[in-house]
Amino acid sequence: MLDCLPQTIEPIGLADAGRSFRGEIAVSEFERLRPLLADTDGVLQVSLSLRRDERGMRVAEGSIAGEIRLVCQRCLQAMEFPLQVEFRLAIVTSEAEIEPLPPGYEPLLATGELLRTAEVIEDEVLLRIPAVAMHSGVGRCDSGYRNRPVAEKDNPFSILEKLKT
Ligand SMILES: [Zn+2]
Repeated sequence: MLDCLPQTIEPIGLADAGRSFRGEIAVSEFERLRPLLADTDGVLQVSLSLRRDERGMRVAEGSIAGEIRLVCQRCLQAMEFPLQVEFRLAIVTSEAEIEPLPPGYEPLLATGELLRTAEVIEDEVLLRIPAVAMHSGVGRCDSGYRNRPVAEKDNPFSILEKLKT
């Protein structure tokens, strides 16, 4: 059964109960991501399941889908960045448990207190975005340059015209 994504989660209890959620998170809720964004419009679709797996380990799994707009570090224009993220987290209750995690799992440190759902999801988004965002390919930055007038001295044909006369 799918419930609406809550604002806060207590991962240990939810994993023991085996609960699944689906919902949306507004991009504007991601406070650490905000400085990297061209704007904070839009929402991300999030699914989140917490359970104990066959080994008895508490896990949180899910997906994040949507689009954010980063700032291209070359032309400083907005750059569409589609997100299609699958994540698998092992819910650990102390730093000591982080080390022996099975491969493919990232730790989610939970101490019985409520965690903001948006922050847990934001961590996964931050892991996936490039350290330096840039439009891919040389030609892709042109939206930022299109409006710049071509200076006379940069135009090779005007130089040729001068040589002729
Ligand atoms: Zn660019």
